[in-house]
Amino acid sequence: MKSCLMVLVLLLAAPLSLAKEIAITFDDSPRKAAGYFSGPERAQKLIAELKQHKVPQVAFFSNSSKLDEEGVKRLQAYSRAGHVIANHSHDHADFNRTGLEQYVEAFLLADEKLGQFENFKKLYRFPYLREGNDKAKRDGMRAALKKHGYSNAYITLNNYDWHIESLFQAAIDKKLAPDFERMGQFYVQVLMESIEYYDQMAQTHLGRSPRHVLLLHEMDISALFIGDLVDELKRKGWRIITPERAYQDEIAQYQTERVLPFNPGRIGEIARDKGQKKGLWHSTLDENYLEQRFISEVLQADMKTLL
Ligand SMILES: [Zn+2]
Repeated sequence: MKSCLMVLVLLLAAPLSLAKEIAITFDDSPRKAAGYFSGPERAQKLIAELKQHKVPQVAFFSNSSKLDEEGVKRLQAYSRAGHVIANHSHDHADFNRTGLEQYVEAFLLADEKLGQFENFKKLYRFPYLREGNDKAKRDGMRAALKKHGYSNAYITLNNYDWHIESLFQAAIDKKLAPDFERMGQFYVQVLMESIEYYDQMAQTHLGRSPRHVLLLHEMDISALFIGDLVDELKRKGWRIITPERAYQDEIAQYQTERVLPFNPGRIGEIARDKGQKKGLWHSTLDENYLEQRFISEVLQADMKTLL
């Protein structure tokens, strides 16, 4: 009897311990309303979907230049719902086009302004994932992060969800009435393809599936379909974890020596250092490719371009 119980315990524990782990993060909050939802509606829907699908905590990487009255309220709502508010710079400057001094200033200004939120954490997400296009800038910003008690909030799972949002808003704008069921399926499918691709790349180079960090943006399609994505992740054996847990993975300590003006994410950096030169950006990270698929899979329309 005792051994039967033991087997049962092991059987129950096994799927959990084998589950692949993923944290969810949203950049560019509070991102401006594009037409479908207002800012407050988007926040409300996003919070409700995360709660309903039992995602206890995500992170919102925020730009302090967007903190008007409504923006402050939106971030307050995320923070009070238990989500992390973190630094994505003041003005979303491109580090490839900005000097170190000015860039550090914008990082510190955001630190000051975002510090007002209860759940603020000292995590920095580089806009466009660009960490410096020469060694002096890259090392200067690494030193600034360290000096101010910050960690680099790298991502492992890259995608172009922001372009899917543009396609969705354009379809609404042009009164093309996108079918929401097909829209949700398209969103989930494209994201799952990139997630599985980068996880496979990680397993190739690390010999294991690390705790992943998914890059998304604070947008209407995220609020509409995050629940569908979470369901699909769980169905495929993934477990949703907090950003804090994700950043405890060993790869958080990884620092490439290579200067990368365009950064594919942490898995891409590791793959590049291990000699992989091609496929660091998944094929779904292509605006034209996504547009063609959106036209055929969501709109099922006979048209060459949408945008
Ligand atoms: Zn951004």
